[in-house]
Amino acid sequence: PPSLQLESVGFRYPNGHHAVAGLNLRLGTGIVGLLGPNGAGKSTLMRMLATLTRPTEGRILWNGTDTARDPNTLRAALGYLPQEFGAYPALSAREFLRYLAAVKGLPHAQTAARVDACLDLVGLSEARDQRIGTFSGGMRQRVGIAQALLNEPALLIVDEPTVGLDPEERLRFRNLLTDLAGQRLVILSTHIVSDIEASATELVILSKGRLCYQGSPEALMAAA
Ligand code: ADP
Ligand code: ADP
Repeated sequence: PPSLQLESVGFRYPNGHHAVAGLNLRLGTGIVGLLGPNGAGKSTLMRMLATLTRPTEGRILWNGTDTARDPNTLRAALGYLPQEFGAYPALSAREFLRYLAAVKGLPHAQTAARVDACLDLVGLSEARDQRIGTFSGGMRQRVGIAQALLNEPALLIVDEPTVGLDPEERLRFRNLLTDLAGQRLVILSTHIVSDIEASATELVILSKGRLCYQGSPEALMAAA
């Protein structure tokens, strides 16, 4: 099983702003909901977990490997859906994923089958030859998840995925993540509590860059 461990992780921006401080976490499989108000440090933490930026303090260990020394072990296991994910509206879902598979360097012989399997996982098989420009917001987010699954990641990081989705699309998206979390670690950041209270196996709540809760949603509700 995957293991992601944060040891006293912090991040200070060049202007001196301390966006994340003193985070200690140990995560395995399941859906971890990362919650906090705007400015809490969620995006900064997600970028560190996705190895887009390094912690300025502490260490992030993936299966025991320090990601600052060796980011590639984590990157090989990582699927990432950034907040500002943009797909190419003129391409079909299939064309877009085949393009991304080539960019990501997936073995060419496996690309076509892998792309179709990922589209199937997110429920887009029937729409796979339609242009992304004709898709709803929820379908576009599922294209985003499909691209994040191309390399069969053990760690899936999803940043604010339900912004702009209607309630039905939100529910569908939640169910999809629950299906995917069986053998994976899924980390989902959101400021919408209802996105994760039902589906998260664990909550991590940040406020002003610091951990203010880690535990099950049930324990949090019981304490409230
Ligand atoms: P969240 O995703 O929870 O809204 P962020 O990680 O985006 O939080 O931001 C955390 C804090 O860091 C905020 O106070 C934000 O203004 C600040 N911040 C974000 N990016 C920068 C930056 N490039 N330089 C300085 N401060 C930043
Ligand atoms: P998020 O949705 O991640 O909270 P923000 O609106 O905080 O995004 O930030 C948008 C962009 O502006 C990001 O690239 C972030 O790094 C940058 N940013 C945010 N706060 C600051 C800040 N105080 N100083 C400089 N850059 C910032």
